[in-house]
Amino acid sequence: MLTGQQYLESLRDGRKMYVNGHAVPDVTQEPLLRGSALWAAAGYDRYYDQAPDACGPYFFIPTSVDDLRGQQYRQMHWDFPTISTSNGLLMVLTAASRMRAQYPVYAQRALAYFEESKRRDIRAVITITDAKGNRSLPPLKQDDPDLFVHIADRQPDGIVIRGAKLHISSAAIAHDLIVMPTKAMKRGEEDYAVACAVPVNAPGVSVVNAVFSARPDFDAGFYPYSSRYPMSEGLVVFDDVFVPSDRVFLAGEVEHSATFAHSLGLWERLGSVGHYAELGDTLVGFAQLIAEANGLAKVPHIKDKIAGLITYATLIRAGLEAAIEHANFTPEGWASPDELYTNAAKFYAAEQFSAMVRDLHDIAGGSVLTAPSSRDLRNPQTAAFLEKYLRTMEGVDAAYRMRLFHAIRDYTADAYGGWQHVTMIQAGGGLYAQKVVVAKHYDMERAKRLALEVAGLNPDKTSKL
Ligand SMILES: Cc1cc2nc3c(=O)[nH]c(=O)nc-3n(C[C@H](O)[C@H](O)[C@H](O)COP(=O)(O)OP(=O)(O)OC[C@H]3O[C@@H](n4cnc5c(N)ncnc54)[C@H](O)[C@@H]3O)c2cc1C
Repeated sequence: MLTGQQYLESLRDGRKMYVNGHAVPDVTQEPLLRGSALWAAAGYDRYYDQAPDACGPYFFIPTSVDDLRGQQYRQMHWDFPTISTSNGLLMVLTAASRMRAQYPVYAQRALAYFEESKRRDIRAVITITDAKGNRSLPPLKQDDPDLFVHIADRQPDGIVIRGAKLHISSAAIAHDLIVMPTKAMKRGEEDYAVACAVPVNAPGVSVVNAVFSARPDFDAGFYPYSSRYPMSEGLVVFDDVFVPSDRVFLAGEVEHSATFAHSLGLWERLGSVGHYAELGDTLVGFAQLIAEANGLAKVPHIKDKIAGLITYATLIRAGLEAAIEHANFTPEGWASPDELYTNAAKFYAAEQFSAMVRDLHDIAGGSVLTAPSSRDLRNPQTAAFLEKYLRTMEGVDAAYRMRLFHAIRDYTADAYGGWQHVTMIQAGGGLYAQKVVVAKHYDMERAKRLALEVAGLNPDKTSKL
């Protein structure tokens, strides 16, 4: 296993990085990216074990319901690249299992890649979203053939890929990119049916980063969450990148182009549901704490809104538990979550999120946005004003209440909050993507039968349409 320090050193590998208009010679020294790297490094140190055969719990294939539950609950406390590694590798294995009968060589390569990743203790990120150009047109009808990643050349020992993938979380601080098609490809689009693993520092890979992070001119307390957990999103360009055969998991088999996206949808969305279950409970905690600090905890409309937040958090957790409890098993004996419950819970969490944040803001009041910095609390010219006017009662001083407001702003209305609002809707595919899966896996025949019985019609005698 790698220590945090060894991980940081491993990122000094000649990768081509850009951010905010300049090249980044060393991501571990770049102020806009360093925080993300340190967060991931802390994750390495947390699990480091010097035993030669040790490996992190993120390289784990669940084979029972309890395994799956343990894996999901552990994941809630990991840094982002570690979560992505776990979900990405499980995705590759799930896809491999679905392809094994037809293409055993891909299944073997996928398992070998899992073992190799475990041995090297690397972090890999999920790289699916293509640039897509005009969204109404398929790859070959675009005015630029590179708007979807494709095979530009086939060589005896590998393939060459070209194109770009957008919004790749933590690409700047990962070792590998797990590349796969963004959607189902049709006959004629064989070159676009490509899945593979590519090192971030491979010749031809460039990453242009966007970051959300705390404003560096404020103290960390003004951004208590995003100063600790900054995210980077990368526009990853593949400019004729050679991929050796043993890292290629799909190269033209269009009938399996969507297998990866479906497998990813499963693991990525389950991970999101776990994250949202914790996030839901955190919103409840904020609402209760600020209501108490404002002296409003017993007011009926505040209690009613908090009960609504509790319902939200509880239903997401119920969806998570149902998805785990109703796990499916591959022929290899690997557990994977139930698609219906996973997608229904992900949709519900995302769709209701803004309404829940609205209620939290309604409960908390305008100081969510206007509470001055804690530096103003330390400035002798202003400290007395803040201490006098931002306290509310015995036991609730200005420092405590301001910190709560800073946290609510950061978490729901500023750096992390802004990221979360868009991520909630788009990451793992837009809301519509979850509805498609839900409709596919729902037991419609049973629902029709129930309705026919209520209508007094005999379900057995009614023609099946
Ligand atoms: C913060 C963040 C992190 C992310 N992390 C990752 C990551 O790590 N790896 C990764 O691969 N991706 C990642 N994503 C990408 C995410 O999966 C996409 O944003 C999502 O799939 C939508 O794609 P898009 O952004 O290109 O938007 P679009 O595809 O432009 O979608 C916008 C809207 O248009 C609709 N739409 C698009 N095309 C059609 C069509 N043909 N017909 C009808 N409706 C259509 C969509 O349903 C959606 O409602 C991330 C996104 C965000 C915001």
